[in-house]
Amino acid sequence: MPIAADTDQTTGVLYVVSTPIGNLEDITLRALRVLKEVDLIAAEDTRHTRRLLTHYDIHTPFTSYFEGNHIRKGEKLIARLKAGDSIALVSDAGTPTISDPGYRLVVQCIETNIPTVSIPGPSACIAAASIAGLPLHNFAFEGFLSPKSGKRRRRLTDLRDETRTLIFYESPYRLIRFLEDVLEILGNRRVVVARELTKKFEELFRGTASEAIEKFQTTTPRGEFTIVIAGKESKS
Ligand code: SAM
Repeated sequence: MPIAADTDQTTGVLYVVSTPIGNLEDITLRALRVLKEVDLIAAEDTRHTRRLLTHYDIHTPFTSYFEGNHIRKGEKLIARLKAGDSIALVSDAGTPTISDPGYRLVVQCIETNIPTVSIPGPSACIAAASIAGLPLHNFAFEGFLSPKSGKRRRRLTDLRDETRTLIFYESPYRLIRFLEDVLEILGNRRVVVARELTKKFEELFRGTASEAIEKFQTTTPRGEFTIVIAGKESKS
């Protein structure tokens, strides 16, 4: 079903569709329309996506596309796109390809001249940054650092002189170790820890790295976390 602006094309279109990071109301009207109109939805986790589709009474067929099956599945998806089907790519939450699968599919589309269209919407990094209260004329999104201490610390060392605001994703199990490394390597900077944004237990902590460590040592970190950290103060 050709639903892109360019209706002359014979191939389908890959729509990269952002979905909520928690609150199901955070989805655009366009995203809902595209999810209804495409021939197939390629989802990181089909159980997760089924919940979203059921909520919005969307009956489009869906299939899985995740890190473990991306080679075999990618080829199948490209074959369908070439044959004229349009596909919506969604991840579990937020914007596909941002610390999520999908990048390779976008590259395959570029290589095979299949149009890609972004259906923008939520992303945890932007949601957290927007309320952090730290400068955002420019920023550096670092995603997840390595779970390996040595690698993580090396990356933080590389970032020591970065003056842009830094944004990280981190698992609740490693949050304290991450903050301890931040304190030791970057110093006692301003830190904003955004927890469970848009969800029932949404919480925003603003303080210094050492205050954040103290807080999360007394209340066990649970849920999903995005951390925004002030860049190095520039001398000018
Ligand atoms: N593609 C997604 C996006 O655009 O937001 C990010 C996917 S990444 C695999 C998932 C990570 O994003 C989580 O581990 C957490 O660090 C962060 N995250 C996702 N939802 C969040 C939320 N509601 N509040 C805070 N951080 C969140």
